[in-house]
Amino acid sequence: MKRLITLGEINIFDAINDPRESIRRMKVIELLSAIPGVGKARATLIMERRNISPTRRIGGLGHLQLKALGKELAVAKVDPIRGKLIVISGPGGVGKSTITAQLRNDPRFWISVSATTRDPRPGEREGVDYLFLTPEKFQEMIETGEFLEWAEFAGNRYGTPRAPVEEWRTLGKHVILEIEIDGARQVRSREAGATLIFIAPPSWEELVRRLTSRGTDSPERRAARLALAEQEMAAASEFDAILVNDDVEGLIEQLVSLATA
Ligand code: 5GP
Repeated sequence: MKRLITLGEINIFDAINDPRESIRRMKVIELLSAIPGVGKARATLIMERRNISPTRRIGGLGHLQLKALGKELAVAKVDPIRGKLIVISGPGGVGKSTITAQLRNDPRFWISVSATTRDPRPGEREGVDYLFLTPEKFQEMIETGEFLEWAEFAGNRYGTPRAPVEEWRTLGKHVILEIEIDGARQVRSREAGATLIFIAPPSWEELVRRLTSRGTDSPERRAARLALAEQEMAAASEFDAILVNDDVEGLIEQLVSLATA
């Protein structure tokens, strides 16, 4: 059934109206994702917008939900205004991830999930904080052109998978990349319309304090991070805007207005 939908041979409503138990037990999200031109991201968005639980099965759809789905699919051909690409960069330890975490629940934004070859830190989750890849898999993705940008940082590789960025922008979400400086430079040269935002610490002393208080790094790694941070601070002038991270709330406000301007 899913394959037939993908091939465009049957309409999703054929599936919705099919009395067979095997079809009634299929997840709505799977069938929606299989529709040509819809895909996983748009299917998820439609379900969220219509308050349909991601685990809902075809047979469990209520009348109103069916009607809502019908409306969504009728207009699915109309593309929303493409979302912007926003790069948030700055030295390690400046608090970039705290900032992006605050935007996670804002439906106007989608925070890109990077791939990395580094090991997960305690509490980090696969597919949420990062895609944790082997060096071989990372290399393969470089060779197949799957990264929008990638860079080496403190002995590990980090990269932004291109496909989800495109998918979410097509759905009208502003996509946020939280990346280091080399990656930001690559985005600048590849995506002329991207907005590059530099997050600066209140002072160099404060940055050193934040970087050295992280208990998970070895002394060598810490020294490397400090040296890199110094280089990164020197790149601030290449950015479209510099925001100082002395008050997270205020910074988020500035960021949102820059992003949605
Ligand atoms: P951490 O290992 O502390 O999570 O991240 C180290 C650095 O890598 C941070 O400056 C972070 O912003 C950057 N980073 C994370 N993901 C990416 C990515 O996809 N591309 C690039 N270029 N840098 C990234």
